[in-house]
Amino acid sequence: MRKHLLTILLLAGAVTLHAAEIPVTNQTFVFQTGPWEISGSLSPAFSPSLLKNIRTGVVRADLPYRYTIGLMRAGKKLTGAGLRHISDRRGKLDDGTAFFEVTGSFPQISPDILQVVQTFRGRADADWIEEEIVLVNKGDLALRITEIDFSFGKSLYDKATSQWDPLMRAHELLAVPFLVDPENHRHRHPLSTLQNGNEGWKYQGKPRLLSEAWALTDGRDGFLFSHYSQDLIRLARAQAIYNEEGIELRFGGSGAEIEKEEANTIVLLQPGQRQSLGISRYADVPGGYTRAALEYRGWMDSKGHTKPDSYQPPLHWEPHYDNPWWTFSREHILEEGRKGAEMGCELLYLDPRWDKICGGIEWDTERLGDFAGFNDSVKALGLQGTGLHIMGDFVGGSPADHLKVFPGSARRDAKGGVILPQNPCFASKQWSEPKEARLKNLLAEDDLKFLMFDFHRWPGSCWDKSHGHSVPLTRREHAQAYYSHINRIKAARPDVLIEAHDAIVAGAPKVYLPKYYGHTGGHRWDEHWGFEFMHNPLLDLVEGRALSLYYYRLAYDIPMYLHIPMYADNDNLLMFWWYASTVQHLGIGGTRADFATKGGGGLLPLPQSRFDAYQKAVAEYKPLRKFFIEGTFHGLGEYAHLHVRPDLNQAVLMVFNLEQEPVERTLRFKPSEVGLKSVESADGADVNTDGDDALIHVTIPAVSPTLIPLNFHSK
Ligand SMILES: [Zn+2]
Repeated sequence: MRKHLLTILLLAGAVTLHAAEIPVTNQTFVFQTGPWEISGSLSPAFSPSLLKNIRTGVVRADLPYRYTIGLMRAGKKLTGAGLRHISDRRGKLDDGTAFFEVTGSFPQISPDILQVVQTFRGRADADWIEEEIVLVNKGDLALRITEIDFSFGKSLYDKATSQWDPLMRAHELLAVPFLVDPENHRHRHPLSTLQNGNEGWKYQGKPRLLSEAWALTDGRDGFLFSHYSQDLIRLARAQAIYNEEGIELRFGGSGAEIEKEEANTIVLLQPGQRQSLGISRYADVPGGYTRAALEYRGWMDSKGHTKPDSYQPPLHWEPHYDNPWWTFSREHILEEGRKGAEMGCELLYLDPRWDKICGGIEWDTERLGDFAGFNDSVKALGLQGTGLHIMGDFVGGSPADHLKVFPGSARRDAKGGVILPQNPCFASKQWSEPKEARLKNLLAEDDLKFLMFDFHRWPGSCWDKSHGHSVPLTRREHAQAYYSHINRIKAARPDVLIEAHDAIVAGAPKVYLPKYYGHTGGHRWDEHWGFEFMHNPLLDLVEGRALSLYYYRLAYDIPMYLHIPMYADNDNLLMFWWYASTVQHLGIGGTRADFATKGGGGLLPLPQSRFDAYQKAVAEYKPLRKFFIEGTFHGLGEYAHLHVRPDLNQAVLMVFNLEQEPVERTLRFKPSEVGLKSVESADGADVNTDGDDALIHVTIPAVSPTLIPLNFHSK
């Protein structure tokens, strides 16, 4: 019966049907797609209270859905809780996506003021189900949304029986992608720690956990939920609630903002405006954290957040480590190019201060000769050309300085138009238009191959009405303006590789924006920045911060760019091979440790033996880029990375020993799970099998990397 009615409804397509017209639901509803079923009350109160995998029977949500909102309208505060059904519809889109959509309103707020449209979507051939919530301002006054909490609920602990949910007893919430972030925080939260009223689940002082996605897993069972928005800056939220009944987990729905925009506002809804809060996606992913991260990588790849087609980044030489910051001459920099060519590098990358005024983006012809001639000299050394750092603000500059170059671009405050002291307004056309014109002059030079966009951090708001942004300027407008600016440059020269720092924190070794944010449109920037691990990368590895690169790589194919100084490495090149294994686009430099001591780098002069060892490593590394860059990355552990090429029946296994003694390790994986047949041979390691598992036994010297090429059977 249900099937029959469902067919009729599917044929009805996008026709709005009222509850009374849907006999199948009879005040309740069921929506099935792929392995998922959502059900609950439809009318008068809409509440999707059960989220269940019908193939396994596992229930992921079993409590009434929560709808709460707070807003300001004409100076008056309104709050809403619960959702009253207005209408619903279901159907199938042309691409086969099935949907179920409900429009509702809050009992406390007139439907003529605010409505909510909640949609669930899925596909018969997909393992996930998605949820989107849209707020609609139905009135004629702006609504300033100050609080939103729409979420599924799962009962974890029942006070009356003192029982934990039997499945969830050993589950942990693990952040994806950053189980370890660049600040060395480990985002691992066992549910069992909630039992004693632990208030440890906090983010920025609030009782919640925020990440792009969360894996809820005990290593066998696994559930992945994420939140995605290219508009509002929002993350997947997990929250533990203690109440009369026990402990419940709140997740999904509207996600949560990292921080509110100006004036305690999540979003300002103009009359008639429809605003999506983003898309939550849910899937069961058995098998633990790395499987969940891989699933997330597949989701991001499917949205185009992956490496560019034919991605073959050149190995950079980074002169900055050996040159005084502000005073390098043509001779200085070409001597660096000579060193880079001797090392086997392919591109000369110029960090700040190649321009006449730092940030003016005008090539300093007087000091460096004309740009085309400079590139000719670089190419005569055997390199492919140059890459340039693009400075957002002016280091050491003042508002007066940047106004000389970009008139009208200064930020202004709310009262009297007083110029604010920090940074130009990157969201102003007075800054972006002349900046882009100057950048396009540089792009006329074919031998320019790479650009890095840096120093564009959020400078604070701006109230200049002539800038073309809303007043006051918000973080997301700033971020969107910054990435659009970069993407216009990408469109002008799609062959130039572009790295874009985080638009809010720029070079600070932090995670702020979701790593997909702003990576959108037909022409998009190519790479992220490796969290400023450029100053002492070995220490970043040994102390744990660089594990963030491993976790990022598990969950993302958007490449990273990073340069590293040779003087910071040890004699075994532990540092070089770690970054070669985790970062797709590398630069190296740093022969003058005497200069580095002034800048905080090495203590001893770089021995010739280190330079020679790097030369040898670079020669070994370059042919291996077909694995490190073109291959697929799999994590066998934080210090064991597998780079596979199923098309070649080959892989490279990198294993790292940070201990001061040699260690023996046995790495276990299923070749079938990485697209390969059984192992045929391993250079420098013993191979065994255990059922379908391959076991690689290896002894690794103290504080060393070990590189093991693997060959696989083709049948
Ligand atoms: Zn502005």
